[in-house]
Amino acid sequence: MANEENRIKKVTVNRDLCIGAASCVVAAADYFALDGENKAVIKEGGTANDETLMLAAQSCPTKAIFLFDGEGKQMYP
Ligand code: SF4
Repeated sequence: MANEENRIKKVTVNRDLCIGAASCVVAAADYFALDGENKAVIKEGGTANDETLMLAAQSCPTKAIFLFDGEGKQMYP
C-alpha cells in the first residue's frame, strides 16, 4: 500500500462546524493548531502523513475536517 500513502492532497476545516475541541491538534500537532477564535487552522508548512490526517479527521467530534484526494474527490467524511 506504499503507493497509497500520500493520497490526501487537500485538507480543509469548516470553521462553522469546528467547536475547538482540539482533538485534531492532539492527533496531528505538526499540522493543526487553534487560532485566536479557538478554531482549528492548518499550520503554515505543516506536515502530516495520510494516516495521521485521517486519524485527526476521524477524531473530530463534529466532522469539521474534510480530506480530498488529488482529483478533488472527498475522502472524508
Ligand atoms: S477536532 Fe474538530 S472541532 Fe476540534 S478543533 Fe479540530 S476541527 Fe475543530
